[in-house]
Amino acid sequence: MSTTKIDGKQIAGLVTEKVKERVENLKSKGVVPGLAVVLVGNNPASQTYVNNKAKTCERLGMYSVQIELDENISEVELLKQVEALNVDDKIHGILVQLPLPPQINEDRVIATISPLKDVDGFHPENVGKMMIGQQSFLPCTPFGVMKLLEYSDVEIAGKHAVIIGRSNIVGKPMGQLLLQKDATVTYCHSRTKDLHSFTKQADILVVATGRTKMIDASYIKEGAVVIDVGINRDENNKLCGDVDFESAQKVASKITPVPGGVGPMTIAMLMENTCLAAENTLTNK
Ligand code: NDP
Repeated sequence: MSTTKIDGKQIAGLVTEKVKERVENLKSKGVVPGLAVVLVGNNPASQTYVNNKAKTCERLGMYSVQIELDENISEVELLKQVEALNVDDKIHGILVQLPLPPQINEDRVIATISPLKDVDGFHPENVGKMMIGQQSFLPCTPFGVMKLLEYSDVEIAGKHAVIIGRSNIVGKPMGQLLLQKDATVTYCHSRTKDLHSFTKQADILVVATGRTKMIDASYIKEGAVVIDVGINRDENNKLCGDVDFESAQKVASKITPVPGGVGPMTIAMLMENTCLAAENTLTNK
């Protein structure tokens, strides 16, 4: 079977080019889209993500601030910082980098972010709107997967999409977005019995388990489209996904690599959401 590698880097480039045009248009109206990224503690992986976000903002002509807070900050202090960003006119999007240290309740932090600036799409108001198909900020990773499928001409309506993983940030919203595009959706998770029997039916298989190279060709139907959301390090400390790419590419018709698949899309969609948040300030005036 000949396999097409879905080039997330290239597609993210096409998406951000469009965002750049929208940024220029906003600037001509006196609005510079601004993103605030809040980082608590000094987790090196989070630091890398945050730096990449700031660099992309700069490249697209957007304003960005990085707020770095001590690992031991109290929840009250963090909530005050978020509230200050909620009323800062230069900031259109707020992202609090997860995970947060144990003294802080993540749900309370997310609920404190203004839904109008919740560019991660995690606020319960935005999650609810997404569920009922109303305009809202979509969570960046599943939103990015939908763009990958669109740009790769993958037909969704009537197809069987199987999602492995049911987290609030990836698996659950992923299934909802595919359902809205008329896929028949099956969710699998760690308590699913006989995982193979479900994955082997998938026309579109989205894997978000956090388990290094867990899904090999034996789980995949010939000709399926395979989307690997995972970001892991293998035994040689090389970046890899939740899918065993070497094995899976022998049966998949289209497949995302790691790195260079879903990862670049997540940042691209964050930029798109921030741009949308800034545009909304003009239309809501
Ligand atoms: P979580 O750990 O929150 O969720 C993992 C999910 O996988 C859970 O629902 C879990 O089931 C399920 N799972 C775990 N083991 C198995 C198994 N053996 N069989 C079936 N299901 C299983 O992870 P996230 O959703 O946050 O992230 C998933 C992956 O995606 C990670 O590798 C993460 O690094 C990556 N990621 C990548 C992003 C990107 O930009 N590319 C962004 C966000 C995440 P259960 O609910 O029963 O525990």
